[in-house]
Amino acid sequence: MSFTLAIVGRPNVGKSTLFNRLVGRRLALVDDQPGVTRDIREGEARLVDLRFTVIDTAGLEEATDESLQGRMRRLTERAVDMADVCLFMIDARAGVLPADQVFAEILRKRAKHVIVAANKSEGAAGQAGYLEAFSLGLGEPLPLSAEHGEGMPELYSILRPLA
Ligand code: GDP
Ligand code: MG
Repeated sequence: MSFTLAIVGRPNVGKSTLFNRLVGRRLALVDDQPGVTRDIREGEARLVDLRFTVIDTAGLEEATDESLQGRMRRLTERAVDMADVCLFMIDARAGVLPADQVFAEILRKRAKHVIVAANKSEGAAGQAGYLEAFSLGLGEPLPLSAEHGEGMPELYSILRPLA
């Protein structure tokens, strides 16, 4: 028995970077520019001896007639419902923004299991944002650097009991 992990959070926090690291192939595009990735992407993740399904959410960057909030809600709810566990990612360098609070609210209401990850935590730049992440009320945040691979042993420890 395995599980499905959904990576959710606002654009540009590093979701696709983590997805790519877990999946090991560049299935999801990573870019600084808006509009590069779309909707929901699924891959088979490997983390040490764990094998699980990982979902990357995107598509919030694109301009459509639907409001950003509406799309955010719809897409996040879809991902949350597909998942056994959600990794809610914030950008530790940016801190907790109003958009992050919207995600937190959706997850509080809907998700079975949430891991708050404070990404971009390499070096000291993310310390204040990491501490702010406690205020989301979704448990102790996990400091992560998806780009540099920091925090992976701790992520493994959290996910292992779910496998
Ligand atoms: P997404 O929109 O949430 O999928 O974010 P992306 O994975 O596309 O990453 C957005 C930007 O953040 C890219 O420029 C990444 O290189 C950068 N990024 C991702 N993870 C990290 C990290 O751990 N540290 C730093 N400093 N930058 C990161
Ligand atoms: Mg992305």
